[in-house]
Amino acid sequence: MSKLTLKNLTKRYGEVFAVKGVSLEIPSGEFFSFLGPSGCGKTTILRMIAGLEYPSAGRIFVDDVDITATPPQKRDAVMVFQNYALFPHMTVAGNVAFGLEVRKFARAEIQKRVRESLSLVRLDQKFDSHVQDLSGGEQQRVALARALAVRPKILLMDEPLSNLDVTLRAETRLEIKQLQEATGITTVYVTHDQEEALGISDRIAVIEHGKVIQVGTPTELYTQPKDPFVAAFLGNANLLSAHVSRLDGKSHVLSVSEQLRFRAVLNEEVPEGSSVLVAIRPEHLCLVPVQDPHDFTARVEAREFQGLTIEYRVRTGETVLRVVMDAFLTQRFLTREEVGVRVDPEHCFVYTVAGA
Ligand code: ATP
Repeated sequence: MSKLTLKNLTKRYGEVFAVKGVSLEIPSGEFFSFLGPSGCGKTTILRMIAGLEYPSAGRIFVDDVDITATPPQKRDAVMVFQNYALFPHMTVAGNVAFGLEVRKFARAEIQKRVRESLSLVRLDQKFDSHVQDLSGGEQQRVALARALAVRPKILLMDEPLSNLDVTLRAETRLEIKQLQEATGITTVYVTHDQEEALGISDRIAVIEHGKVIQVGTPTELYTQPKDPFVAAFLGNANLLSAHVSRLDGKSHVLSVSEQLRFRAVLNEEVPEGSSVLVAIRPEHLCLVPVQDPHDFTARVEAREFQGLTIEYRVRTGETVLRVVMDAFLTQRFLTREEVGVRVDPEHCFVYTVAGA
């Protein structure tokens, strides 16, 4: 088990900064994820840790030893790729042995470790199978076994589930988490899927344009997003530009437009007239019949049954909002119906707009 430290890690391709000054400490045994939209620099960070890219600036340390200039095969950081990168003509065992052969382990040790790591991913029965005869999920597990066989100090995973179907993805995610907990390997995981990151990680760094925006546990990021981007990215919050129009008891009245006003509890003093960005998660909006008390009215444009929940799109003036309601405990509304919308004032994230 090992600690990983990134200090001011930066990668530039010509004029483009793929990664900008990332500094982080990932303690031994942690499951850490980089989460962000496509092109934000996640893979580049991982490739620098693996030694597959050389940083333009900054240093990488494993247990306080500077490995920035260490070649990939001499690093104890092994990567599992999105496309598995297996050799299709080789057997399962051959693939798992490969990394050990490159590292020049003795034959008996290779055999022992291949069996051990295939058993960890529950593929002992597929020892002599050809990789092309395996399912996507099994191939993914071979790739994982190949990485584990090296007994790395750091396990790196780049979107390892993205080629699997939804059911298999959920199952494999659980297996990866259990395996990581059982082995205690410090793991760095890259994904653009917020649900995956929230479910699997001890801590997450949210990345935008190559920079770390916020680092925290899944609960911290979900309940205290410090930035509208984090609020919108984790939990699909509705983002609204509003003005603080007046103080009303312990909450403020926020105005988005003439017809769209609601109360919100602000954590800090914000002067009347300030421009703010408000993030409201779909589950913190509630639709009610128009005759019931509400903050503003809207019309249902679309609704989608999702099993436990129903997601509505409602329009008020120019603004379209996502609302998620319990499918069985709440009243259902029809497309084109006029509804009242209630905002949970305690669960609005309000951000002052710089320069406003
Ligand atoms: P995705 O989820 O789509 O893989 P990502 O967040 O992993 O995206 P990166 O692949 O790290 O993003 O890329 C970050 C930025 O750096 C992008 O703008 C990309 O176009 C650019 N980039 C990555 N590799 C190179 C390269 N070899 N040469 C030039 N630009 C590159």
